Amino acid sequence: MPDVPSVFTLIKVGFGPSSSHTMGPYFAARDFRGIVASGRIRGGRLRAVLLGSLALTGRGHLTDAAVAAGLSGCDLGADPVPPLPDVLAQVRAAGAVRVGGRTFRFNPDEDIVFDPSAGDLPHPNTLRFEVLGEDGRVLVSEEYRSLGGGAVAGGTFGEEGARKGRFTMTEVLRACRERGTDLVGFVRENERQLGLTDVDIDGRLAGLWQAMRDSIARGLRTPGVLPGALGLARRAPGLHAALQESDRALAFSREMDLASTYAIAAAEENAAGGRVVTAPTCGAAGVVPAVLRVLQETLEIPDEKVHDALLVAGLIGLAVAANASIAGAEVGCQGEVGTASAMAAAAACYLLGGDVEAQVDRAAETALEHYLGLTCDPVYGLVQIPCIERNGAAAVGALHAASLAVLCRGEDRISFDTAVAALAEVGRDMSPKYKETGLGGIAGRFREDRRGP
Ligand code: SF4
Repeated sequence: MPDVPSVFTLIKVGFGPSSSHTMGPYFAARDFRGIVASGRIRGGRLRAVLLGSLALTGRGHLTDAAVAAGLSGCDLGADPVPPLPDVLAQVRAAGAVRVGGRTFRFNPDEDIVFDPSAGDLPHPNTLRFEVLGEDGRVLVSEEYRSLGGGAVAGGTFGEEGARKGRFTMTEVLRACRERGTDLVGFVRENERQLGLTDVDIDGRLAGLWQAMRDSIARGLRTPGVLPGALGLARRAPGLHAALQESDRALAFSREMDLASTYAIAAAEENAAGGRVVTAPTCGAAGVVPAVLRVLQETLEIPDEKVHDALLVAGLIGLAVAANASIAGAEVGCQGEVGTASAMAAAAACYLLGGDVEAQVDRAAETALEHYLGLTCDPVYGLVQIPCIERNGAAAVGALHAASLAVLCRGEDRISFDTAVAALAEVGRDMSPKYKETGLGGIAGRFREDRRGP
């Protein structure tokens, strides 16, 4: 029996700009706040130490603001999400936070330490929280790891966040054949085994699909400039308007353009710190919603069928998490946008009528294999360049992969499991420069060009 975690551990409502560098550190800070609240320390100073990738790209990813929000008790799960720069400014102005009825000094500018020098970390996204006494002694300390997609290990989370299950898609497909079920039936049964009722499952899927659609809708109607040093203008509203005006007969491929525009809309919402759905991460949050929306509009697919497609997408993402990684800091963007494209391709193939044994697996494999080696190189650590356009390209790639899988009936030479194993190997061999450090690739070249001759 394949050991498959719940798809709802992977696909969940969150907030941008990064699940590993914003959501994860926020959850860790909130957890540490709870530990301090339940302890007996009467006061002192709070300190957060960001290590590895969090130290190198944390400012662009608003990790400091997320940590300040978590330590101060701000609820980032609210809808709409409170703007993180405003939260940081409030905590800075207060110079202290109240925890469990006690006051702790906390100045984000001094007490959030970005330390890229520490080597030999348990994970590239490691962070530590401390309470210091008046004499500077560490009174309480907890270490956390932000594992990707918002999952966290350490503190009261223990190692549960690191649990990824043990399964391959080959095993899942075999189990489907033996039980005479399809992938949707398999995942639904697995969720029931994990304790959810059918009402729970359907309710969660409806909520996720609504949140995905909302992220696209907000992106399509919100003009302006994204936060951060790039001063990047949001493009989705203009792109969408141009597509509405263009003569359908002249469009090269209207569905492809729409998929790209929808993905960019949700990715811009993410970059602005808005409410998005991790699929599998925030940085890649535009791909799956865009593909599902364009197929629903084009083929008039009912919501219930789209919900089932989300289960297929989630299973594919879980397979990557179990056998490789979905964290850019561990394996580069192949694990984030590459995985998102594979998830979307599998979901699209399912909606297009692909059969379980060959086509869904083939669609996911076809999408993923073309992202192997993809670097994570966000300029200034912002989840904007190259991330936003990359979401658009991955949505188009997913539709292409699904079409190929449906049209080319027959056995594929490469299984999805093989592509995932290749992803893990490439990720291990990839230089740290290309793993969410801002040191290489587009980020590194951009910085060099800015420096000038
Ligand atoms: S390059 Fe890819 S993995 Fe890196 S921050 Fe952007 S979307 Fe995430």
